[in-house]
Amino acid sequence: MTAGLRVDGVSVAYDGVQAVTDACLEVGRGRVLAIVGESGSGKTSLALAIARLLPTNGRLISGSIDVGDVEVTGLAGAELRRSRGRLVGYIAQDAMAALNPVMRAGRQIAEVFEAHDGLARTVAEREAIELLRQVGIHDSDRVARAFPHQLSGGMRQRVMIAIALALRPKVLVADEPTTALDVTVQAEILAVVKELQRAHDVTLVWITHDMGVVAELADDVAVMYGGRIVERGAAGEVFGRPAHPYTQALLSTIGDGSAPAKSRFSVIGGSPPSGPPAAGCPFHPRCSEAVGPCDTTMPPVSIMGATHEASCHLIPSRT
Ligand code: SF4
Repeated sequence: MTAGLRVDGVSVAYDGVQAVTDACLEVGRGRVLAIVGESGSGKTSLALAIARLLPTNGRLISGSIDVGDVEVTGLAGAELRRSRGRLVGYIAQDAMAALNPVMRAGRQIAEVFEAHDGLARTVAEREAIELLRQVGIHDSDRVARAFPHQLSGGMRQRVMIAIALALRPKVLVADEPTTALDVTVQAEILAVVKELQRAHDVTLVWITHDMGVVAELADDVAVMYGGRIVERGAAGEVFGRPAHPYTQALLSTIGDGSAPAKSRFSVIGGSPPSGPPAAGCPFHPRCSEAVGPCDTTMPPVSIMGATHEASCHLIPSRT
C-alpha cells in the first residue's frame, strides 16, 4: 500500500494543555479515513495539525506527519506557504465563518489560482467557474458572482470544497463539513466529495461524530477518545469486530437497520473528559466494563489484525 498520509506519535497542546497524545495513523493513497469521536476527543486538533493550521496558541509538541514523501511538520516560511493547498486541502466545518463575507465566491477561488499558479485574473476566474461546476453547482456563473451570505449552507460548503481542491491536494481533510446541513444536502455533499476524491485519487480524511457517515464513506476508521486514538483499522474490521468498549458504544448509536438510526452519542452515559489527561484509560469514568488497572494504567496497543488495533485492558483476554 502506498502511503498517502502517515501520522507518527503526534501530540498537540493548547497553552500547555494536551489535546492530542501520541496519535499514529497510516492511510493508503486514494483511501478514505474517518476520524470519529465526540466533541473534545481531539479529532479537530489532529486535523488542524495535519493541515498545519493550528491556531497561534496551539503547538505540535511531538511527532511527524508525512504526506506522500514530504514531512510536513518541518515546513516553514515560504516553503510552507507554497505547499498550502497542494499537499493538504482543508474543508472547515463552518463555511460561513471560513469564507470572506465581503468577497464574491468565484473571486475567493480565483485568488487561489492567481496566488499559487500565477494565473491571470480572467483565466483564474474561468477556472473558478469550472471548479464550481465540478463540485455540482449547475449555475456556476451566478454562484461565482454571489457573496457568501447570498448562498445556501450547501452551496457555501461546495464553494469551500472547490477552494480546498483548487490546487489538487494529495490529502483532503474535511472537518465535519456536513454537520450543519440537512440530511438531503448532506447526502449530496458526501456524493460530490466521494466522486471527486476517486476521480483525483486524493487521500481523504473525514472528521465526524456520526457513525452513519462513517459507514457510508470510510475505507478505514480511527476512533478518538480523550485525545487518543483508542481503536483503528479497516472499516469492515472495526464495524464487524469492534474491540474497544467506546467503539462498541458508538456503533450501538446507529442501530441495525430495523429501527431508525440515532447516529448520535446520547446513549453513552457521562461526559467526555476535559482539561489535562488523567491517569489510566481516558474512558474509564464512563466505561461499564472497567477493571482493576483501568484508572491507573494506560492500556497497551493490542494488534488484532493486519490493520486493526485497539487500546483496552480487556482485549488480550478476549483475543
Ligand atoms: Fe474500559 Fe478499561 Fe478498556 Fe478503558 S481499558 S475501555 S476503562 S475496560
